[in-house]
Amino acid sequence: MLLTDDLLLNFKRCERRAFLHLYGDRQEQSSEKDFLMKLRKENQLQINEYLGQRPYSTPQADDWETRAMETEALMAAGIECIYRGVLLYHFDAWDGTDIDSLTIIGKPTVLLRQAGESKWGKWHYRAVSVKLGQKPKPEYKLTAMLHSFLLEKIQGRSPRLTQLMLRARRPHRVDTELWSEKLQETVADCINILSQDREPEVFISRQRCHLCSWHKHCYGVAQAEQHLSLVPGVTPTRYESLQSLGVTTLKSLANTSPQHLGQHLGADVAMQLQQQAQSMVNQEVLWRVNRPNKMRSVPQGEVELFFDIEAEPDRNVDYLLGVYFVDRRNQVEKFYAFVAETLEEEGKIWQEFVDFVEGFPDAPIFHFSPYERDTLNRLGRKYGTPPQQLQDIVGRLMDIHQWVTKYVIFPVESYSLKSLANSLGFHWQEVGVSGDQTVCWYDTWLETGDRQLLDAIIRYNEDDCRATHHLKQWITEFIDSKQNTIVLS
Ligand code: SF4
Repeated sequence: MLLTDDLLLNFKRCERRAFLHLYGDRQEQSSEKDFLMKLRKENQLQINEYLGQRPYSTPQADDWETRAMETEALMAAGIECIYRGVLLYHFDAWDGTDIDSLTIIGKPTVLLRQAGESKWGKWHYRAVSVKLGQKPKPEYKLTAMLHSFLLEKIQGRSPRLTQLMLRARRPHRVDTELWSEKLQETVADCINILSQDREPEVFISRQRCHLCSWHKHCYGVAQAEQHLSLVPGVTPTRYESLQSLGVTTLKSLANTSPQHLGQHLGADVAMQLQQQAQSMVNQEVLWRVNRPNKMRSVPQGEVELFFDIEAEPDRNVDYLLGVYFVDRRNQVEKFYAFVAETLEEEGKIWQEFVDFVEGFPDAPIFHFSPYERDTLNRLGRKYGTPPQQLQDIVGRLMDIHQWVTKYVIFPVESYSLKSLANSLGFHWQEVGVSGDQTVCWYDTWLETGDRQLLDAIIRYNEDDCRATHHLKQWITEFIDSKQNTIVLS
């Protein structure tokens, strides 16, 4: 069996993904998303920056076996820094498995020469992996440990240090004692699961799956099975609890009493999940049973503003502050986009935005998600807006997402703006576009000046603002129309 560090990393993220990478039908796999390509490009820039002026050597062969031999020759020659080397080792067995032949391949970003005896002389090597993440994720630590383990086998001694180089050149030292044991176990699990010809069960998790090239395929499987992971709020741990109660499908969840579910999940979660499943099975919007006792109507204004931000987190810029202006009195609706066409213009658009919203001091400002509030506070501090002036704006923010999730259960698989507004019949002009895509477009706009891309982002942002308006109208009517018929305890 051949096990690479990439396969192990994928396995750690999702067992099914590693399995599909090995045995899946490639026709079912989508092409790589632009956002992933952007991340790859950024990682390469980060690596270039790390290498800086440091001289290095690189093995030249294309195939792994030869490349690994070249890498070992460079290490034997005592080269200071080896970039894109390959560590390869053959094992006769692995604890916890029946395997009698295993080849493991690791590709650390660089191998750095260190003082200290090895089989080649008075030097040895340690591996450094340059990763784009801000945090030392477990899968990064695991592969860094794998590199260290392979090095020990190849050079006849353990490197003293195993390091990850994270974003902003933050080094992270991996605790080898802890991760050595985890590595042994995870490799064994990986071999055992990948040796079977049974696909690991699907589990759709928005965070983990949305960039995965198998998402379309897995989502189709999950839908066909009415898999419980499609129910908002069902986490892997809750899923296990549901299974132990014999609840395995959307319908069975909808039909199980919350009291029964509550034994394992707690009363509140049980009620929420059961209602959510009911709503999805019957395709109806429900009042949340465990909503707050005191119900508030959504604030109204003669003028209302609907606000949404586009940001490029990697460049640390909020480049579009979009406002959909609704004047009920004069029946005027208009979209305003404050756009930073260059990174340096963020301060300028912030001031334009502040001046604009101050022109309507009584207008509530509706948005969706906490990001807008956090960002206004941050931009205000960054650009020295007087605290009272900033508070006057932030104090008018109304998060529609909170209103929806506090009171209502929707028959949706996600409580994102797109999913909720789509379920109410609102459609975006830019079909199939996500926030990730707009980040890529903005980057390309900065590089190429292609105006069409910036215009597409503005249209997308306008639709986000309009969708917030649509949702706000709907939730307002829903609360007001049902208020008299609901018995408030
Ligand atoms: S879509 Fe999700 S469940 Fe399917 S392979 Fe990818 S990460 Fe795993």
